[in-house]
Amino acid sequence: MSKVFFITGTDTGVGKTYATLALASLLKKRGLSVGVFKPVQSGVGDAEFLKKRLGLTDTLREINPYFAREPLSPHLALARAGQKADSLKIISALRVLESRYDYVLVEGAGGLLVPVAPNYFMSDLARDLNAEVVVVARLGLGTINHTLLTVREAKRQGLSVAGVVFSDSSGKKGISESSNPKILRRLLDVPVLGIVPFLKKTDEKSVVRACQKGLKVHALLKKDFFKTGKLLSLDKKHVWHPFTQMKDWVNDVPGVPVVIDRAQGSYLIDTDGRRYIDGVSSLWVTVHGHNRPEITEAVSRQAATLDHSTMLGLANAPAVRLSEKLVEIAPRGLSKVFYSDNGSTSVEIAVKMSYQYWQNTGKTKKTAVCHLAHSYHGDTLGSVSIGGIDLFHKVYRNLIFKAVRVDFPDCYRAPEGKKYPDFAFEAVDRFEQFLKKNHDHVASLVVEPLVQGAAGMIMWPPGILKRFEELCRKHDVFLIADEVATGFGRTGTMFACNEEDVHPDFMCVAKGLTGGALPLAATLTTGRVYDGFLHPYRDMKTFFHGHTYTGNPIACAAAIANLEIFKKDQTLLKLRPKIRYLAERLSEFVEIPHVGDIRQHGFMAGIELVRNKDTKEAFTPEERVGARVCERARSYGVILRPLGDVIVLMPPLSISKKELSDLLFAAERAIRDVVSLEAQRCSSC
Ligand SMILES: *Cc1c(COP(=O)(O)O)cnc(C)c1O
Repeated sequence: MSKVFFITGTDTGVGKTYATLALASLLKKRGLSVGVFKPVQSGVGDAEFLKKRLGLTDTLREINPYFAREPLSPHLALARAGQKADSLKIISALRVLESRYDYVLVEGAGGLLVPVAPNYFMSDLARDLNAEVVVVARLGLGTINHTLLTVREAKRQGLSVAGVVFSDSSGKKGISESSNPKILRRLLDVPVLGIVPFLKKTDEKSVVRACQKGLKVHALLKKDFFKTGKLLSLDKKHVWHPFTQMKDWVNDVPGVPVVIDRAQGSYLIDTDGRRYIDGVSSLWVTVHGHNRPEITEAVSRQAATLDHSTMLGLANAPAVRLSEKLVEIAPRGLSKVFYSDNGSTSVEIAVKMSYQYWQNTGKTKKTAVCHLAHSYHGDTLGSVSIGGIDLFHKVYRNLIFKAVRVDFPDCYRAPEGKKYPDFAFEAVDRFEQFLKKNHDHVASLVVEPLVQGAAGMIMWPPGILKRFEELCRKHDVFLIADEVATGFGRTGTMFACNEEDVHPDFMCVAKGLTGGALPLAATLTTGRVYDGFLHPYRDMKTFFHGHTYTGNPIACAAAIANLEIFKKDQTLLKLRPKIRYLAERLSEFVEIPHVGDIRQHGFMAGIELVRNKDTKEAFTPEERVGARVCERARSYGVILRPLGDVIVLMPPLSISKKELSDLLFAAERAIRDVVSLEAQRCSSC
């Protein structure tokens, strides 16, 4: 892969093409091979000029895939010529050149905020091409403002600026021409590469001779060619990854590890510029796509206003505003918001509050916390105490508090002689019997409403959640809805509780709260619970709990922007046809060998792979079938993360139908590849 620079200007006509020619000539002088790329061109023939001057043998089409004759903004010129630039086509055209050269200089058109297509700017293209930016500026009056604006905007958009080049396209020798570069050298925090003088002759030799003294390219050379390799070796030296067998990781057992460098919309992009559809929303957090401008702008605005201030005895504006917005969309009755920073703590807070409520109000025997079988509420010890997944939780059994495990079935593997969904209702009936006898000792029941995610996407039959609510109401036991995974549209409604019109006493939210931008969590509860803590201070009935970064303003600002997009984009409405499409396509997966079960609720889906479809016999963990499918999916451009042998599909809600189709295609291919290998192995053994 070559190093790619995106040559942009502070304005049109500042001498980008001459600067490109000069940089290319100087790099070539150092023995490097250099290609140029002019993805969209309107009006003058810069591409032909560069091709000729640099003696390039690529075809003109390869150097310039989009051309329109009229000298207008590219998207308009193309539209008038009946064309529309396609960024994926541009990216693959660049790949061809990259395979031929050490360096490719991509010449943009105009400046960074020139549209390539409606809603797609030169800056987006620079990012998608994985390029570093070189800014070409005029020498004369006005250049300070334009140059600083361009560099700032590039940085604001997460682009890396390799340097600024001045281009003397007029040959004028005024006082501003001689003073501006010096002033900017002081004001800029990026390298100034130098000045391209007024070029009288444009053959390569003359250009080198004219530029050699005043223009230095070493800032472009110093760049790290081995970014991926270097990062990975450092990673292996120092980083301990969550839920990861590090012995496999350091030995590269699961294929080549990937270093993610950037993201856009439904895509993650690695340090080598490879693009992957984010099939699990970066562990279930991304809602409206990565790097949504509204969210990143809210974050940078807030970071420049108030980064953090404690909530212990102080308020801050974003936390206040967000609380109002959360209460507005939450199930009725939830009117108080307690912030924390991850899902586990949001559940622990609910558990502690529900427990302390009974202590505060004199019912001191109500201490037991109930949870369901297969439950997952996080990894801190409090959440582990109410966890029902042995693989994660068993080893800590001597460290945790005692909780009551309510038996609750797996929707795929029915108990002997039972039918779905009867056995689920029977389990609730048994819980009812338990409550009848023991409610005096029970503080709360915590559930993951409708979908038990981490257990492998266990789906509840309709009506179960409502039954749990009724039982809790009747026996004065708090219902804690852990909506960390299901919240913010995942199930197709804003919250899973909405589907059965359930009004829990506590609702825990985290994952999708900031749209995937920053860690933030909230525990919502009722006025009744809140009032249970209102006592004279000396009674010591305060809720003595709080994390240092509770209610962080930047994270809250991200969450506000995230919630606003739901309205603006009509996210939930637009999700419906995509949920149907996902269901349609998944129903075709039953044909695939070893696909035992397909489970979907809204935009949460799991495909369970088994050795034997008739007996539902599982593969052994050592076979790593789920993990191997996900590794395989990477070669088809998709990132997935399994739960055992359940392949999880949880794309961003904003994914387009085309991207969803690509995701399903890759998942199907990956499953077929791995199970056909499995079939070969079985027939030989
Ligand atoms: C992920 C998850 C948690 C834990 O959240 P963290 O932010 O990882 O601590 C809790 N409950 C459910 C249902 C989850 O899916």
